[in-house]
Amino acid sequence: MEEINRMKIEIKAVLENVAIVRVAISSFISTLDITIDELMDIKTAISEAVTNSIEHGYDEVDDLENKSVIVKAYIYSDNDDVIKIEIEDKGVGIEDIETAMLPTYTSKPELEHAGMGFTIMETFMDEVLIDSSKNEGTKAVSYTHLRAHETCADL
Ligand code: ATP
Ligand code: MG
Repeated sequence: MEEINRMKIEIKAVLENVAIVRVAISSFISTLDITIDELMDIKTAISEAVTNSIEHGYDEVDDLENKSVIVKAYIYSDNDDVIKIEIEDKGVGIEDIETAMLPTYTSKPELEHAGMGFTIMETFMDEVLIDSSKNEGTKAVSYTHLRAHETCADL
């Protein structure tokens, strides 16, 4: 796959910044032949991953001042366009990734989490890979293939 474009953002780990990441990713992929539905799906998935990094990754951290979420986005061209998005924190990490990814699993039921973040990411992206080590952090890597759309020229 040929890399067409890439972008990296390092942003302070506060919830207000989830919306900023959504807008940045939207702009980055806006030049592609993408439907509103596809764009909404990607924005929904990245919101879950960034929120997880802030709410879970840095949960025990008192000094958020220097804590960042790192977002990398790539556009590749295969037959279709492929978007890869990586969302990374240097937080507490996940001990048991398989359990964490089960639908409705949450380590914070008392805070009204539904435990659906990973499931939403897997629903809205074609592939989701989680890489995490205790006390080193978590990286969520997801891919989506944009389907080629029929244009007037194809008819
Ligand atoms: P919801 O997303 O529905 O509000 P949730 O965040 O608990 O609830 P998921 O997003 O599916 O559910 O995450 C499941 C669990 O995985 C979390 O409860 C948390 O224990 C763990 N987890 C997820 N992301 C991270 C992260 N970046 N760092 C540490 N732990 C994480
Ligand atoms: Mg979540």
